[in-house]
Amino acid sequence: LLQLFIPLNNLGFVYREMRESLINIERMFGLMDQHPGVPDREDAAHLAPDGGRIRFEGVRFGYQPDRPILRGVSFTVEPGQKVALVGPSGAGKSTIARLLFRFYDVDAGRITVNGQDLRDVTQHSLRAAIGVVPQDTVLFNDTIRYNIAYGRPDASEAEIREVVRRAHLDGFIRELPNGLDTLVGERGLKVSGGEKQRIAIARVLLKDPPLLILDEATSSLDSAAERAILATLQEVAAQRTTLAIAHRLSTIQDADQILLIDGGQIIEAGTHRELLERDGAYARLWRYQEGVIR
Ligand code: ADP
Ligand code: MG
Repeated sequence: LLQLFIPLNNLGFVYREMRESLINIERMFGLMDQHPGVPDREDAAHLAPDGGRIRFEGVRFGYQPDRPILRGVSFTVEPGQKVALVGPSGAGKSTIARLLFRFYDVDAGRITVNGQDLRDVTQHSLRAAIGVVPQDTVLFNDTIRYNIAYGRPDASEAEIREVVRRAHLDGFIRELPNGLDTLVGERGLKVSGGEKQRIAIARVLLKDPPLLILDEATSSLDSAAERAILATLQEVAAQRTTLAIAHRLSTIQDADQILLIDGGQIIEAGTHRELLERDGAYARLWRYQEGVIR
């Protein structure tokens, strides 16, 4: 088992995981709004997410029937808490996030939000309740204003200014030729990865959903810019029920619960301290990442 976590080529794990995650998350969330997922039931109800307890109960799932990916996954994210998913690439972390977004239905078990089975609610109400901050945000070829407000086109100027400030984008926007009306994207101004992530954060703040899926920063946390993004992500996650896919264990020490996923199962669960005390696979992974990266 541990061989999966600590490959012979020590740096391999970190870099493969980073590359995989970029590709997966881009695929996963880049086309999010267009992704049809599965059709609504005719009598589908509106999701009432208040509080926002997320529960996976014995979830089994495979993209193909003969190749199970999740093999009995159960956990609860209590309202306002943060649960972090860690583990090697291919373990099933992004799959868990995709199922919460109901891109697919489970093969067995169930997923509920506040007790409502995802299969019984409308896609629209489910997705309205979930905000996503991917690692690599895809920007529309339009203004920054549009990119921030596209989920809430009715947002007022004051509301946009407010989220710009809370996402710490105001300094960046002040430097731009046309401020919020500057064109970005492939045909406009090139925006750095950190700034794109801040735009995604502003979007989420404007949408103000009770549930949050976070793809946490991977690259060097030694830089001040990375640490600043992490602090902002923590602000966004406060008060929301958060499922965080973590690449660097150093970014999720504050999680209420950490789930170590391997081979489509939870192999260890607990707080950072509990898992270190347990001295199992998480503790080894922690020592290994600390050793390699610091
Ligand atoms: P992680 O996020 O932990 O790296 P994923 O949840 O993305 O892992 O993937 C788990 C497994 O599911 C991997 O073996 C991956 O190849 C497979 N997988 C992911 N997406 C698809 C897909 N759309 N079709 C078939 N297999 C997939
Ligand atoms: Mg992934």
